[in-house]
Amino acid sequence: MRLVLVGSPGAGKGTQAAVIAGKLGIPHISTGEIFRQNVVDQTVLGMQAKEYMAAGELVPDSVTNAMVADRLAQPDAAAGFLLDGYPRNHEQADVLADLLHGQSIAVDAVIEIVVDQEHILERLVERARRQHRADDTEEVVRHRFEVYHHETEPLIEYYRDRELLRTVDGVGSVDDVTARILAELPD
Ligand code: AMP
Repeated sequence: MRLVLVGSPGAGKGTQAAVIAGKLGIPHISTGEIFRQNVVDQTVLGMQAKEYMAAGELVPDSVTNAMVADRLAQPDAAAGFLLDGYPRNHEQADVLADLLHGQSIAVDAVIEIVVDQEHILERLVERARRQHRADDTEEVVRHRFEVYHHETEPLIEYYRDRELLRTVDGVGSVDDVTARILAELPD
């Protein structure tokens, strides 16, 4: 199973991605997590990404696409994967499609987790308190919403046009949302 999870900041993508990937036995590939780890490890990739992340901007496509290509080439991703936080714009979606097409494979489904703005702000404030993420300050969160709206939201139509989109209500307990996602997965 090759899945993509999309949703605005704070929609619960990361939580659901970890649960769903665990249940399906496929790697959970979070570009945000990979970038954060590289920042901690002070790698070249981390240095390239750090400023963009702190500002709530997308890391340049050239950097992000190369990283994802590398990650998907690892053996554990051969039988399937769940992408969390990628693609985030049209260019990345095209690159992903081409990359998979080159291996005669494709994404099986794109799950959109929908949560209204009010619930999301509550969650982000809560997460900022617990995790101390540098990009969870109010100003940066607001900017990440704008970036989502302008860059990532158009992908909803992109994947709807390709009949891959499944939309799931993200309000409720973690278990409830997981059950909704599982019910939407293709056979
Ligand atoms: P996330 O944990 O998915 O919210 O990602 C945190 C940050 O990492 C984002 O605000 C971006 O700066 C960067 N990032 C994660 N995924 C991508 C991506 N696909 N393209 C560009 N930047 C990304």
